[in-house]
Amino acid sequence: MRYLPVFLDLQTGPVALVGEGELARAKLRMLVAAGARIRWYSSGVEHDAQGLEPAELARIEFARGDPLSADLTGVVAIFCAGAGDIGVAISLRAKSVGLPVNVIDDLAHSTFIFPAIVDRGDVVVAIGTGGASPVVARRLREKIEAVLPARIGDLAKFIGRFRKSIHARIPEMPLRRRFWERVIDGPIGALVLSGHKDDAEDALRKIADPSAFAGADASGKPTGHVTLVGAGPGDPDLLTLKALRALGDADVVFYDELVSPEILDRIRRDASRIAVGRRVGKPGIGQEAINQLMIAAAKSGQRAVRLKGGDAFVFGRGGEEIDALRKAGVSYSVVPGITAAVGAAAQFEVPLTFRRKALRITFLTAHKADDADMIDWSTLTDREMTIVVYMGMAAAPSVRDGLLAAGRSPQTPVGVFARVTRPDAKAAVGTLDQLPDLAAEVQGGPAILVIGDVVAHSAPWRRKNLTSNPTSFVSDLLEAAE
Ligand code: SAH
Repeated sequence: MRYLPVFLDLQTGPVALVGEGELARAKLRMLVAAGARIRWYSSGVEHDAQGLEPAELARIEFARGDPLSADLTGVVAIFCAGAGDIGVAISLRAKSVGLPVNVIDDLAHSTFIFPAIVDRGDVVVAIGTGGASPVVARRLREKIEAVLPARIGDLAKFIGRFRKSIHARIPEMPLRRRFWERVIDGPIGALVLSGHKDDAEDALRKIADPSAFAGADASGKPTGHVTLVGAGPGDPDLLTLKALRALGDADVVFYDELVSPEILDRIRRDASRIAVGRRVGKPGIGQEAINQLMIAAAKSGQRAVRLKGGDAFVFGRGGEEIDALRKAGVSYSVVPGITAAVGAAAQFEVPLTFRRKALRITFLTAHKADDADMIDWSTLTDREMTIVVYMGMAAAPSVRDGLLAAGRSPQTPVGVFARVTRPDAKAAVGTLDQLPDLAAEVQGGPAILVIGDVVAHSAPWRRKNLTSNPTSFVSDLLEAAE
């Protein structure tokens, strides 16, 4: 982000506009509509206000004299539109006196730029593309226009009117936030959005105990809750709607190392974020400490989110965590996430099952070589079984040796899928005897190993084998089409 969106208070002083012609008039209209008072310096001989309405003219002060030497005291910002070459000089002057300046179509001489705007009264959405593509901004604006209720501005105004009185009745901020969430999401909000402000006001005034309405327990504290949220393998677009909602409502988020920054970005801005996972080279705070933190957060009335890579119940220790929450009598819920195997399957087109050919899936973990040595590989020799190994990069040689010794064919197709659904995702495919080399080829994790005939259907396998083995590709296709 190069440009920070901020909202300029147009009540605090006039804005100055330098320029002439239709460009200047269009800007004048826009500024008038936004409620600005405008001091207009024409860069031409006379101000040409042709086509401006009387109500618009009333907000415009026709300034005489040279804007380059004019007194700018109290001016909030300077705009140049249709100012020709003077724009550059004005820009330098504005910068020298510390005023924000925008020169139309001239990023180099502007210290701020205009967003595309969705205007719903008190609710204003500004969309910027850093000046790169006004068309993208416009398209986005159309989409936002389409989903924002027409009276959303009225709703904001309505809440604004009652904020002080509710503040006095619910001093605790988290509880107050819940109060307003219930108002917005419930019947009162619906009344305002459907144009029945008076009824909404009646309903709001009738709330006898605002704290109870907000969900406080007998002691007046909000009831805490823990949501275990699966964050998926990395791509934020793979978050579920429930996950997004939990992140948006959270007071505190305990997250693991594997959760990508793009996903952390979806957390409510004011929520506390606490990294509890293992870091490279550092052990992390440990499961018992994590359990205690979650329990303490919920008991103090917070909405806590336990955010984990993939799914909480696939090698995520989610089971132990809900055991602890249950024992502590804390309310909790679980939101599933896309586990790494499923993310890899979609991205690299590995059908984890295949009619008549791959009938079973085993997810296993082989964190260290000793883990791999403890696995009974003889149960995994079935050709119709797809095996997915989590945390198996370091143990790749032991996985290969174990499976070969148990009798699985060295020609079994295998894939190593790293950083799946992330921008730097990488796949390496080959055969079981090559597994350790393939693991080295993807250059780092997190990665899963997939072992089984289905890997021969994957996109990277097809790319690799199309030229060397076209007949098997065609026969595969024919077989698949059966
Ligand atoms: N709960 C997670 C798994 C946690 S165990 C899930 O459901 O996906 C950590 C292991 O998951 C890693 O060692 C790796 O094997 C796998 N993994 C997690 N994210 C991954 C990703 N984006 N790409 C490939 N493998 C991933």
